[in-house]
Amino acid sequence: MKLINLDKLVVTNNRVDYYFSVEGKIKKYFKKSKHLFFEFNYDISKTPTSILTIPFVANLAPLAWITDSIIKVNEIDYSFYKCLDKIKLAYQNMFPGVSFKGSVSTDYTEKNSFDPEHEAAQMFSGGLDALSTFIKIKDEKPFLITEYGWHEERIQKSEVWESDKDHVIKFANINGLKNILIDSNYGSFLNVQNIDHDFLKKLGDSWWHGLHHGLAIISAAIPIAYLLKIKRIYIAASFFKGYKTKCASDPTIDNEIKFASGEVFHHGYDMNRQEKVKVVVDYYRKTRNPISTLRVCFKNEENCCKCEKCVRTIIGIVAEGENPQAFGFNIPHNLSNHILNFLEVNIKFFTPSKIMQWNLAIKRMEENRGNIIYKELLEWILDYDFSTQRKKSLIKYRVTKFFPIIKRRLSTRFNRIFVEKS
Ligand SMILES: [Zn+2]
Repeated sequence: MKLINLDKLVVTNNRVDYYFSVEGKIKKYFKKSKHLFFEFNYDISKTPTSILTIPFVANLAPLAWITDSIIKVNEIDYSFYKCLDKIKLAYQNMFPGVSFKGSVSTDYTEKNSFDPEHEAAQMFSGGLDALSTFIKIKDEKPFLITEYGWHEERIQKSEVWESDKDHVIKFANINGLKNILIDSNYGSFLNVQNIDHDFLKKLGDSWWHGLHHGLAIISAAIPIAYLLKIKRIYIAASFFKGYKTKCASDPTIDNEIKFASGEVFHHGYDMNRQEKVKVVVDYYRKTRNPISTLRVCFKNEENCCKCEKCVRTIIGIVAEGENPQAFGFNIPHNLSNHILNFLEVNIKFFTPSKIMQWNLAIKRMEENRGNIIYKELLEWILDYDFSTQRKKSLIKYRVTKFFPIIKRRLSTRFNRIFVEKS
């Protein structure tokens, strides 16, 4: 039998630690420590165990389902327990190549409930998706939830996380809102390499992107949403309904998540990326509110302006007739050249979904031609054919990179033959 058993759940002030054991052929998917934790900026010592069990189950349920295993817990919230079958079905529809079996077994379900005291909380990174959702729902005065799930066994200092926190705390202060801050090791407590080794092909996606991150991120906030009696948790869509793709954070999954009297809503699935840029730009024009500073660069303390995500967002803002500098992008003086150089190096790595997103911005630039500040950019980018340029660049790349490798291999082989014969 394949079993994941929650042995011990320890609550200390603002922190919960889960210690569990694993039986059967799924052991290889776990690290030795078998330990998951969450630390919050709120005291959770009065939160019921049945609620605190939710993040543990949510982080492991997809793994139990694809490996036909059982997760065993003592008690769990009734609303969450009930929604698990629907979530499982949504995953099954998204990944028809793998059978979602397995189950969650509990001795007891607790019917927790509350009369909501707050309308909303929102997953908030400060990026474009989150900011456009915030602008749409800001009248609900959402708590802003920001997380860092990449600690190892212990909480380590991370410069990126520190600057993320600074940013969201400032943002909350300016807008008269409160932060929910969460530290965890959910991104590193499993042996993801082994899971991907066995499932990447069958799923057509990685464990983290395809199955794990949505539930991990949302469920981490549930203990605090319960504590503060928050009716709805919003998570901003990264994708657009017009572009079907596999992703653990999808409306068919997120919107099924329930806890006590609370629910989850996957927001902004009806807006494409350029429409989101427009929401942010229009808001900035109306209010001149400095909240419009975007944080899109995840691995850096500030927007680097060099990575694909930064450059794509810069282009989006330019297309709306604005200067990216007003939105937190410290762009170089000659933007047209900067983008041209960027494309020359990076176009070969563009996926079809990236090309689709760039084209949305270019199309908008064409419509909005008269308002574009960077005229030199307009001279070439409207005619830039992403697919053709990608193909050309790939051929060039292969010739310059691979040919010397093959040559080197051949010459080592010849040398060896020569040495062996002589
Ligand atoms: Zn960047």
